[in-house]
Amino acid sequence: MSTIRFKATEEIMNRRPVHVELPSVKTSRYFGENVFDSQKMQEYLSKEAYENVLEAIDRGVKIDRKYANQVASGMKAWALERGATHYTHWFHPLTGTTAEKHDAFFEPAENGGIIENFQGDMLVQQESDASSFPSGGLRNTFEARGYTAWDPSSPAFVYGRTLCIPTIFVSYNGEALDYKTPLIKSLNYIDQKASEVCQYFDKNVSKVNITLGWEQEYFLVDESYYNARPDLYLTGRTLIGNASAKDQQLSDHYFGSLTERVQNFMRELEVEAYRLGIPMKTRHNEVAPNQFECAPRFEEANLSVDHNQMLMTIIQKIAKKHHFRALLHEKPFKGINGSGKHNNWSLLTDTGVNLLAPGKTPKSNLQFLTFLVTIIRAVYEHADLLRASIAFTGNEHRLGANEAPPSIISVFIGTKLTKMLDELEQRVDDTTKMTPEEKSELKLDIGKIPEILLDNTDRNRTSPFAFTGNRFEFRAVGSSANIASPMIILNTAVADQLAKFKKETDQLIKANNIKKDEAILRVIKQYIIESKNIRFEGDGYSQSWIEEAARRGLTNISSIPGSLEALLCPKTLDLLRSNNILSERELKARQEISLETFTKKKQIEARVLGDLAMNHIIPTALKYQNTLLQNIQGLKAVYPPEQFKAMAHHQLDTIEKIARHVNTIRENVVEMINQRKKANQLENMKDMAYGYEQQVTSYFPTIRYHIDKLEMIVDDEIWPFPKYREILFTR
Ligand code: ADP
Ligand code: MG
Repeated sequence: MSTIRFKATEEIMNRRPVHVELPSVKTSRYFGENVFDSQKMQEYLSKEAYENVLEAIDRGVKIDRKYANQVASGMKAWALERGATHYTHWFHPLTGTTAEKHDAFFEPAENGGIIENFQGDMLVQQESDASSFPSGGLRNTFEARGYTAWDPSSPAFVYGRTLCIPTIFVSYNGEALDYKTPLIKSLNYIDQKASEVCQYFDKNVSKVNITLGWEQEYFLVDESYYNARPDLYLTGRTLIGNASAKDQQLSDHYFGSLTERVQNFMRELEVEAYRLGIPMKTRHNEVAPNQFECAPRFEEANLSVDHNQMLMTIIQKIAKKHHFRALLHEKPFKGINGSGKHNNWSLLTDTGVNLLAPGKTPKSNLQFLTFLVTIIRAVYEHADLLRASIAFTGNEHRLGANEAPPSIISVFIGTKLTKMLDELEQRVDDTTKMTPEEKSELKLDIGKIPEILLDNTDRNRTSPFAFTGNRFEFRAVGSSANIASPMIILNTAVADQLAKFKKETDQLIKANNIKKDEAILRVIKQYIIESKNIRFEGDGYSQSWIEEAARRGLTNISSIPGSLEALLCPKTLDLLRSNNILSERELKARQEISLETFTKKKQIEARVLGDLAMNHIIPTALKYQNTLLQNIQGLKAVYPPEQFKAMAHHQLDTIEKIARHVNTIRENVVEMINQRKKANQLENMKDMAYGYEQQVTSYFPTIRYHIDKLEMIVDDEIWPFPKYREILFTR
């Protein structure tokens, strides 16, 4: 009987090409057609209702009941025309995915028959039982209710035949059970604090939006091979397997031309994204074989987060249609690059100014410097919390693995800006008033920033948090993560620092009787000095940086449970609790959920690895050993002893090798199971997570090593699982 591996290959060979249906019209003709955007709102709503929604979006005010009914009925009419039969509140529980529970529009009418019904209260709020979502103790079973509430700032959309309404998800007591609730709070907070600081420079600014542009990396593998690898379909990554003879060493996949099959997939993905209003802009091959990246144009952050969640869903759906499986795991394959998600982040005023792009006048450049330096200061202050915000299982294999930024948070700004900050530090006098000459000279130099940046071509791809000309790029985020998690922390940390900046500047103006500009420069200088240690321009992948960072007192936490400790340290509580973003209970719950998810994922991996080893690999190895033994017996029967010895020594050697590997695998699996049992007995979630990390997963590399050795020894004909060379090189 042939192995599942050969059956998979056969399936692939016999497969017919997928028929792709692409629109024949220009993208602009169907872009956003499945979104209830402002244009459609104007069409389907009364003027008052429309204005009420806009007000709710811009100012966060509550929607009037009367208008809610109107909006619901307009939305329903539009959705029915688009073929929708159901509606759902669409939310982001802490599982990291999106959730939906569909309700049909139809209801029995009073006079018999059936009508399509959708009222304002169904739009605004829903009680979803949803008691199986992780709550980290925020909901007891006797009060398992969770509520979803409409987020008008992200437009409703039709996906398939369902009207999806973006919502927040909270407990009976109003505690957040999702990512969106604290994200929106953090966006309001930074809007408020950034707008206040903008008043120093431009009185016309009344709102500051966060702009976010993500870049999503992923792998595509053929579904037949995927289905033949229990580790892939049960854990999202390979637990065994060798880098094949050829992997990414020639860099011939990176930016290479796309195969027809992949191009067809990408085209359909983009069309589906465009219909949903996701402005996909770039696509290319990534470094590893069968690894790809796509990115939209940046958008307002809340919408951008929703769009990323949607894209992760449709990537998987369209991949299936093309007989691929999309892997969003951070490290699906050993020995080649893993996947990340870069978060390009900036601030945009309602007057149209990107606060991280240098301006035309010294004044606007001082504004640029204010934001740049305050952000660096904030990242310095809350580096550990930022690290915790990206601590998802999976990312631990990637960070610091010579392909992704290390677990050390540092900031890169380029040599020219570094020089500028060094000079400011030298030239700003924070004890005596500056002379008019000193001031105008300094202003002149600050005015030169745009030229400096024009020339600022150095890009450091090894930095976790890099300034890239008109935005910061947070590059350490995992490919499967809900990007709201790091964005909540970044927004809040920066907002908090902006509030401090404002306070300190105002105090200086008052106490020292100095002008605004001079006070701002003094605070900037102070921030430059205080946060110097977080700035690093060198190679973030190098060993010397690890040592240097330790000397600077920067933390380098590669452990997931270890980095989650930062969620409950006093500094975090002070930041998130006092600014009303997340309470201590909510933070505790989040830590608990993350630890539990980590533990469960490691538990599943350990079980799968044990099963692969004991029930698949060892029997296969023994089968091959038997073949060799038979061969030896045959040789012995036919040849005289001297000749037999010369002929059989290779087989004998291999038989012994197999025995050694098999025994080592078995011993380690047995020991791993013992440790798992011990860890399962631990009552405290944190102890259990540490137990799994330190006691259980420590067996993975040894077991894998010996299995991978066997893969190189055993007859290819009987090896059960698709090998790396097959999974990574089917196109
Ligand atoms: P690279 O790979 O060079 O970093 P990409 O073009 O792949 O560049 O991605 C850059 C991302 O940064 C895009 O999503 C882009 O829209 C986004 N971006 C550009 N300007 C801003 C900005 N001001 N704020 C947020 N994101 C931005
Ligand atoms: Mg980038």
